[in-house]
Amino acid sequence: KIYIFFKLIYFYFLLSFAEYPDLRKHNNCMASHLTPAIYAKLVDKATPNGYTLDQAIQTGVDNPGHPFIKTVGMVAGDEESYEVFADLLDPVIKERHNGYDPQTMTHPTDLDSSKLKSGKFDERYVLSSRVRTGRSIRGLSLPPACTRAERREVEKVVVDALAGLKGDLAGTYYSLTHMTDQEQQQLIDDHFLFDKPVSPLLTCSGMARDWPDARGIWHNNTKTFLIWINEEDHTRVISMEKGGNMKRVFDRFCTGLKEVERLIQEKGWEFMWNERLGYILTCPSNLGTGLRAGVHVNLPKLSKDPRFTKILDNLRLQKRGTGGVDTAAVGSTFDISNLDRLGQSEVQLVQTVVDGVNYLIECEKKLEKGQDIKIPPPIRK
Ligand code: ADP
Ligand code: MG
Repeated sequence: KIYIFFKLIYFYFLLSFAEYPDLRKHNNCMASHLTPAIYAKLVDKATPNGYTLDQAIQTGVDNPGHPFIKTVGMVAGDEESYEVFADLLDPVIKERHNGYDPQTMTHPTDLDSSKLKSGKFDERYVLSSRVRTGRSIRGLSLPPACTRAERREVEKVVVDALAGLKGDLAGTYYSLTHMTDQEQQQLIDDHFLFDKPVSPLLTCSGMARDWPDARGIWHNNTKTFLIWINEEDHTRVISMEKGGNMKRVFDRFCTGLKEVERLIQEKGWEFMWNERLGYILTCPSNLGTGLRAGVHVNLPKLSKDPRFTKILDNLRLQKRGTGGVDTAAVGSTFDISNLDRLGQSEVQLVQTVVDGVNYLIECEKKLEKGQDIKIPPPIRK
């Protein structure tokens, strides 16, 4: 009997090996943690919606690396993915979120923007400020796995709810299907709208299916409060404006977001959330707060200094090009934002960006005067 048992296990492994993806050239978090044993354990599992491990990792298999950032290499198809594939997702989350252990830790939420200290940047350096998050509607599959009908349901639920926003937040929904190419391009060029689905990270995970069906952008009249619908997440909620007033941007973000949640709940829906992972989003990198607070900042001297990358790492900041995550920096202006999203509250993360960007600007000023700069000690290890 024991012999048969081992023989069965042996065949099981052999079968899994026949399926195990070739990850030898890969540099993403999924590839670092997907051992043949974990693959064998999870390959036959599926979420109640039928989402499988192979679907979850496809984007990371097809995209070995990214030219500018270390990607996660996998996505969730629904809220349950995080439970069913936890043997892989937990270590991936731990790596991506600076040691956060989803098994033992709980995630804090704090949307009291009055706690933010000194949120105004020197506008000779900071050109624009922005805070965004994502929110998912519980009970509907996420963009990598949703059906056409579910995607349209998300659009309907959210647009209906947003009609209830009042005052400075009141606005209009613009569906991509009804927009001219020119209008769409103008919104992209002005940094208000997500890019066309050009990123292989998006297409390989199935998020661009049926594009542009049920995608769109809702915004208030001044385009300072915006909601993207059905891009990488069900919704992305954004507060932004030109200049360096991160404090005001965060105030509006918190007020608007709480109002959006109230309106969604009024319609009988709720956001995906649990206390270990915070708000549930498509990409594991966005779990927790989902928050990315960032500025477009001009750093001609510091960005050419060999210590720039180390300084950013130690301050837990990430740099992107100003055209979005898939663009290289043009000249010396960068999108600098928080690297972490999980395990710390919204207030803490925005404070990290405020303090960190102020440090970068101080360095830039010192270099202008020919003075030396220091690599700061790493925060929170
Ligand atoms: P996200 O994290 O919101 O998905 P992306 O890197 O995909 O960010 O960029 C989305 C869009 O938002 C791009 O057009 C980008 O230029 C714009 N954007 C991001 N940060 C800022 C900022 N601080 N100021 C102005 N535009 C920004
Ligand atoms: Mg994006």
